[in-house]
Amino acid sequence: MDPKSQKVKLNDGHFIPVLGFGTYAPEEVPKSEALEATKFAIEIGFRHVDSAHLYQNEEQVGQAIRSKIADGTVKREDIFYTSKLWCTSLRPELVRPALEKSLKNLQLDYVDLYIIHSPVSLKPGNEFVPKDESGKLIFDSVDLCHTWEALEQCKDAGLAKSIGVSNFNHKQLEKILNKPGLKYKPVCNQVECHPYLNQSKLLEFCKSHDIVLVAYAALGSQLLSEWVNSNNPVLLEDPVLSAIAKKHKQTPALVALRYQIQRGVVVLAKSFNKKRIKENMQVFDFELTPEDMKAIDRLNHNIRYYDFQQGIGHPEYPFSEEY
Ligand code: NAP
Repeated sequence: MDPKSQKVKLNDGHFIPVLGFGTYAPEEVPKSEALEATKFAIEIGFRHVDSAHLYQNEEQVGQAIRSKIADGTVKREDIFYTSKLWCTSLRPELVRPALEKSLKNLQLDYVDLYIIHSPVSLKPGNEFVPKDESGKLIFDSVDLCHTWEALEQCKDAGLAKSIGVSNFNHKQLEKILNKPGLKYKPVCNQVECHPYLNQSKLLEFCKSHDIVLVAYAALGSQLLSEWVNSNNPVLLEDPVLSAIAKKHKQTPALVALRYQIQRGVVVLAKSFNKKRIKENMQVFDFELTPEDMKAIDRLNHNIRYYDFQQGIGHPEYPFSEEY
């Protein structure tokens, strides 16, 4: 098998490619870059693409996927596409319309994976980030088990092949897993995960329930968006990662990506730069030693880039729990 098409089996029988292409970019980046970068990523071998309604680029990402199907590079079934249900649509009656909106923007018939973007529900409406006059987020109150039931219905309707969650802590996962009448378990929990926040406890928990952990900000995040705490150290400048990279004649970015794959984590890498998109595919060309893995494990300092401070105070704010 071509190592580039390495996949992991999800608990519902579908397969997810272990390396995914991240498409989030801050608002000032022209959306056309998402189109060009996604097309290029598919051309050079990426088969897993991650986006979300929140990123406001599903039109371009969908166009990129469709153009690579149209020119014969891939078939629809070769691509694994993830979309996310934004926080303002967590009320159960809003779930299917939100997914249908994404599909309309994408011009696709189904998504491979639909995940709850975050457990923090926000006031429904057209604003992505509804705030009151004092600038505080306006929260909503939703039982996540009811949101989950609406996702199950989307899967049954064939709009999403698989369903999962994102930014859930283990207690929130447990709540879904223990829900009376649960029809489908979440296939994944997509969370921030990198050597400074290696999520070892959450990973162990997920593995014990056959839930795949998908790592975002695996390269240390983009450090420049409104969502990120930019006072944190720059991951890719870490001396330990640099030394391991040098030893393998690779880059710190590749070491950070490889680390996740070797510990059984599906990893996302965002780049809109052709050289770096291509570089990230080289994650399949080398292997870290057990000593390298241990040295990287020791870098964990529970440093969270996407700390979502504005969500503190919401009953479902996920990051107050240890994991
Ligand atoms: P990331 O993957 O950690 O990447 C951070 C930065 O690294 C990028 O801005 C990129 O800049 C640079 N980079 C990429 N490849 C590189 C390389 N080989 N060498 C040096 N630098 C490199 O960024 P992220 O966007 O925070 O996370 C990845 C994806 O996860 C997102 O795009 C999104 O799809 C998803 N995500 C999900 C959530 C969630 O709540 N579920 C939250 C955040 C992100 P250039 O573009 O300039 O190369």
